[in-house]
Amino acid sequence: MTKENTCTKLEQVKGIGPKKRALLERLNIRTLEDALYAYPRDYEDHSHIVPIRQLVADEKCAICATVAEYPVTTTTKKGQPMTRVKIMDLTGTLPIVFFNNLYVSKFLHYQHKYLFYGKVSCFAGVLTMVAPQYWEINEEEPVPASIVPIYPLTAGLKQFDLRKVTEAALAALPPSLPDPLPDTIRAQYHLPDRREAFLSIHKPHELSDAATARRRFAFEELFTLCCGLQQLKERRQNLEGIVFSPSFTDEFFSALSFPLTNAQQRVISEIIADCTSGKPMNRLVQGDVGSGKTIIAAALCAMAAKSGYQAALMAPTEILAQQHMESLSSLFHKLGITTTLLTGSLPTAQKRDVLAAVKSGEAQVVIGTHALIQKGVAFHQLGAIIADEQHRFGVRQRAALTEKGNSAHVLVMSATPIPRTLALIAYGDLNVSILDEMPPGRTLVQTFAVGEKMRERITAFIDKQIAEGGQVYVVCPLIEEGEIACKDVIQQASYLRSALPHRHVAVLHGQLPNEEKDQIMQDFATKKYDILVATTVIEVGVNVPNANLMVVEDAWRFGLSQLHQLRGRVGRGSRQSYCILFGADKPGAMKRLGVMRRTNDGFEIAQADLEQRGAGDFFGERQHGLPALQFTDTFVDVQLMQDARDAAEALLANDPELKQHTELQARVSQMLAESENALN
Ligand code: ADP
Ligand code: MG
Repeated sequence: MTKENTCTKLEQVKGIGPKKRALLERLNIRTLEDALYAYPRDYEDHSHIVPIRQLVADEKCAICATVAEYPVTTTTKKGQPMTRVKIMDLTGTLPIVFFNNLYVSKFLHYQHKYLFYGKVSCFAGVLTMVAPQYWEINEEEPVPASIVPIYPLTAGLKQFDLRKVTEAALAALPPSLPDPLPDTIRAQYHLPDRREAFLSIHKPHELSDAATARRRFAFEELFTLCCGLQQLKERRQNLEGIVFSPSFTDEFFSALSFPLTNAQQRVISEIIADCTSGKPMNRLVQGDVGSGKTIIAAALCAMAAKSGYQAALMAPTEILAQQHMESLSSLFHKLGITTTLLTGSLPTAQKRDVLAAVKSGEAQVVIGTHALIQKGVAFHQLGAIIADEQHRFGVRQRAALTEKGNSAHVLVMSATPIPRTLALIAYGDLNVSILDEMPPGRTLVQTFAVGEKMRERITAFIDKQIAEGGQVYVVCPLIEEGEIACKDVIQQASYLRSALPHRHVAVLHGQLPNEEKDQIMQDFATKKYDILVATTVIEVGVNVPNANLMVVEDAWRFGLSQLHQLRGRVGRGSRQSYCILFGADKPGAMKRLGVMRRTNDGFEIAQADLEQRGAGDFFGERQHGLPALQFTDTFVDVQLMQDARDAAEALLANDPELKQHTELQARVSQMLAESENALN
């Protein structure tokens, strides 16, 4: 971390003794500089004083009023002490109450004037402020800053302590700070310098100042990330790559049982261009569920094999690896390419043989899980590595692949469509291909959003689908009844077992041991069960073409992209498929669920998700494997992402190693190093 002049121990701050220093350490605040980075999580606006007559229920506000009666403490029905005080200003009076706070009557003095800040609630038609904060207003004790930062705390620390420490840190700021953002870029995108941004994030005059500061820090984060990923990409492109022969195509295309879609052809040509360029390929293929990514992987495997190299195809689970093996082995057999499945569950003797075949090069295409790369499996000549269904595939793993494969070509395939702007940032180290066309002949999944009053009809509909030979998924947000009020797997399974006693119901969730999960999935696939009640563990990749009904309980609790993934579990066979989304009767749910009814296009859904929920959702989940971003949350709009990316590209075009921007380069290196630590 770049050290400011403020890299001073906290001993200097008055009122912060060893006890508090230990507590501050829990918040990662060890020096004054650390305190600068401990940003407020929120602000209270004390600057707009609201006259009592204009108060509105359920809003937080500041009131400037005099204590009009002596505080009275009584006991509630539950035996809790409750203190009531009446306050007044020129426009009216307001009762305020405190629970379990015996000090109040000592500190609130009759006829003294205070600033009160809190939420106004309406009890039995009477507006009341509950447990407000208050500051006495007189000459000796000036009113606190009108916009007050609220910091994340830990037990034993008060807002007051945090404010004291940040005040000291701000006071120690030198007049100018090194800034990773070049002046030209700051000017171009109207971003404040770091010193100003620190001041306005901790002590804003207006809430808009704080917003501007957040924007600057968000830009800085994204910009640094973009620079880092670009550099990774650049570095790999300077390596020597294996040159494949493109002559496999005629034989490959004629071995297929169907013509490729235009999108598939385009993506395969992009891959051929990469793999014959003399540079290692680093490409991401993004394609919706069912868009036909497996064939893309197969094309690359065939190209590697026909060029005298091996290919490794990795799936996130053993079941998916097995499914790849089943769907690809006959194609490869036709092409005279040897294919091997290597998974952890192979019997020892067999595994030894497989490992030997991989090492000798006899196994040309090796299909397995990530263990293929991680567990030091020795290849004869690995030429291509493919990671399928990977939204859990981090920058670090991507980099590790290149190293392991001795600059083998790397293809990452993701079934989670993300909007273009986001993809350009999150996968900035990769080239991106988009499979935006579905193979012909798909029947569209019919989607309905329903409320609880449809429960019985839907249960009957489930029964009817099974009677006609179909199978059903029921997905719930929780495993067991929990604190939040929504449907859980256990309760829903027992409901279905009693409502449909003649049907076979299985339960699947992430807390079951892996083997049991695999077994249940297998049994569902072979139709031992009619209904699978599950959490989102079934989201990734499983293929049971006979399943034609997906019921999602409390669907509003899921992100749109997640619902889209779930819906993708059906509509894989010839049967008409349906997706029923419960929760349409929840307030505001239709805005989200309506998108699902309107479109089946994963990219469109992802775009709507980004617009409705912000980028925070994407960057908040650690699945993407990027370094942690603190500011890239709902505050970040698409434009800012685009700007950060453009700015990084423009700067690196002139100075790829950032030799003229050492401060920035230091940040970039640090960020990449942190992402490594986070992922190991
Ligand atoms: P993804 O992995 O992208 O979800 P798959 O590769 O599993 O999709 O393909 C889904 C189904 O579509 C498979 O049954 C596959 O055989 C079939 N398929 C793929 N490409 C085509 C095509 N061009 N024409 C017809 N069917 C196709
Ligand atoms: Mg797939």
